[in-house]
Amino acid sequence: MITSTTKLLGVIGYPIEHSLSPVMHNAALKNLGLDYDYRPFLVKPEDLETELTGFAAIGLRGFNVTIPHKQAILPFLSEVSLTAQAVGAVNTVWRTGNGWAGTNTDVEGFLAPLQTYDYDWSQTVAVILGNGGAARAVVQGCAQLRCAEIHVVGRNQLNLETFLNSWANSPLAVKLRVHSQEELPLLISQANLLVNTTPIGMHPNVESPLSAAQMANLPLTAVVYDLIYNPNLTQFLRQAQNQGNTTINGLEMLVQQGAAALKIWLQQDVPVDIMRQALINKMGKPSPPHSSGQRQL
Ligand code: NAP
Repeated sequence: MITSTTKLLGVIGYPIEHSLSPVMHNAALKNLGLDYDYRPFLVKPEDLETELTGFAAIGLRGFNVTIPHKQAILPFLSEVSLTAQAVGAVNTVWRTGNGWAGTNTDVEGFLAPLQTYDYDWSQTVAVILGNGGAARAVVQGCAQLRCAEIHVVGRNQLNLETFLNSWANSPLAVKLRVHSQEELPLLISQANLLVNTTPIGMHPNVESPLSAAQMANLPLTAVVYDLIYNPNLTQFLRQAQNQGNTTINGLEMLVQQGAAALKIWLQQDVPVDIMRQALINKMGKPSPPHSSGQRQL
């Protein structure tokens, strides 16, 4: 029950009605028995600054940030973590004595399933499909894994160059190269980690960013990661599984970025299993991660 003492958390976006964050966070808050409520807030781009003042006035403890505010919110924050500065986007905000502070937990979310494998990522070549907002967190994650090479492949040369240039003053070292799609065959044949950050394959679309012939060039020891979580088995992951590659879908990234945000707001451990289960209940049961069993990751 919400009362005058209930503490508020939330997520801002435009649109916001499809966000799964309230389901995941409210399940955790209920499990912890805390007098908190997590709500979706529809915030128009032109209202962002005013809304932040209003959130402070009503005592909002913190909030997640989604499209289109992840970059736009930066000038209104009094403190931005090194990770968020490097990524150039914020997805988690909390109140401090000096105003709002922000960080980016998508990097931690992306890394979480990869870090469950006992594997030296420093010898690996990462190939990332797409150069949008999520690709930024993935590049930063691959840099933190100390991947030997990070290659980003896109369809628009201007966007690729803007993406590359935006890392020039990154506070964290990132060794990055960008490529047009014509270079895919050679890159795929060298990849140890292949990540789809484009929305190709997202429900209700059933396409893959790679043709079957392109996927066939991938070494069988490569890990294939799709950030998409709906459907849980995209055509991209299905192609990879069919030829025996280890695959990871986007559900765990979604869970872990949320858990990392909730930990920041509550300053305590949070029930990650409850958060994962709440999402699965909402979306339907996912396929288990698939392992080729061909190498110990
Ligand atoms: P975004 O900023 O719009 O970027 C999308 C990227 O994909 C852009 O580089 C775009 O290319 C490229 N792209 C789009 N359609 C394409 C097509 N038909 N062919 C080739 N390239 C195409 O979106 P985002 O925020 O990065 O999100 C991307 C995906 O990641 C979405 O499916 C989202 O649900 C998922 N995601 C998942 C999580 C998670 O927690 N699992 C977190 C964040 C995002 P251009 O630059 O040329 O336009």
